Amino acid sequence: MSGFSGISVPTGPTDAVATDAGTESGDVLGDRVHEVVIIGSGPAGLTAAIYAARASLQPVLIEGVIEGGPTGGQLTLTTDVENFPGFPDGIMGPELIQNMRQQAERFGTRFITEDVVKVNVDQQPATLHTASGKTISTQALIVATGAKPRRLDVPGEDELWGAGVSACATCDGFFFRDKHVIVVGGGDSAMEEATFLTKFASKVTVIHRRDALRASVIMQERAFKNEKIEFVFNAQVTEIKGENGLVSGVALQNTTTGETSELAADGLFLAIGHIPNTWLFDGVLETDDEGYLIVDEPSSATNVPGVFACGDVMDHIYRQAITAAGTGCRAAMDAERFLAGGGGQTAVAPEAEPATRSI
Ligand code: NAP
Repeated sequence: MSGFSGISVPTGPTDAVATDAGTESGDVLGDRVHEVVIIGSGPAGLTAAIYAARASLQPVLIEGVIEGGPTGGQLTLTTDVENFPGFPDGIMGPELIQNMRQQAERFGTRFITEDVVKVNVDQQPATLHTASGKTISTQALIVATGAKPRRLDVPGEDELWGAGVSACATCDGFFFRDKHVIVVGGGDSAMEEATFLTKFASKVTVIHRRDALRASVIMQERAFKNEKIEFVFNAQVTEIKGENGLVSGVALQNTTTGETSELAADGLFLAIGHIPNTWLFDGVLETDDEGYLIVDEPSSATNVPGVFACGDVMDHIYRQAITAAGTGCRAAMDAERFLAGGGGQTAVAPEAEPATRSI
């Protein structure tokens, strides 16, 4: 294996984390080889940091302002989070992330706020290179770089994100009680989101760009049977329209005839796939067919010893803050075992000896 480089496009830190690009806390660089470095500042990375810091590993967390999303991850783009255990009245996404960050800092996590642009994990210690030219060496690396929802890239999408436009029905569906919402996409996620949204919405319209769904038959049938769900086929959303800062509808174009139309709606959910943020590890860490990092379940070990992955970059199924946090915990424990064992060890229990029985 050889080193490689990735491209990152700074998008600017969010208010939630309130740090300037290029800042760092504590003495994190110099000649020192760190025990654990974590890339990624969402729930997975921050939970890994809390566990690693409490294990006295003095982790360094690099909270990049990466192409993959804002500092603090996708939660910083949401408003109320009502399904994270421990907050009976809910909590704002940015506040939840800020709390996790403070918790990680309290136990000694040091933060660097800038992009990693190149990583070399084919040697021990691994080395990371940042956008400003810093080089960081580490014995164990935890990859928590997340995944970003694929966007439509149409007018109105950025402006109305979080104001009716969402990529997570589980997170935001509750806010659309008795409303009409649109789901864009024709895969399993679109069917699942549309079906879930009928718990709240009075009507759900699925808009798909072709005349045949990509979703599995069982998911399609479930959606077709649901009286609250309508389908618009052969249509592409060309603009998301807003009124008083909230989604009011979409402009559509028929993908076969080119005909244009408009559809009024109160919300729009994107279900057109996710893009895992793995470009730093292209050709080095193994990925599945959809580009997600493969880990040696139930551990977080990747194919490279000492490199662990957690959160949405390795999970295309659950994608929840709480599941990401859970895998972050695993990654920290695996890194700790790896270091304690002198390398190559993970927290997976050894296979049980076959039971023996005397007659
Ligand atoms: P997906 O299968 O890749 O489907 C994405 C859908 O979005 C496709 O219908 C695609 O259209 C459409 N699309 C992509 N880019 C678009 C664009 N720019 N404009 C409009 N439409 C666009 O993604 P997914 O539904 O998120 O599923 C991902 C994986 O997770 C799949 O393997 C799926 O089976 C799995 N999954 C499973 C479950 C479950 O079993 N419960 C639930 C969710 C997801 P085309 O069809 O024309 O390409």
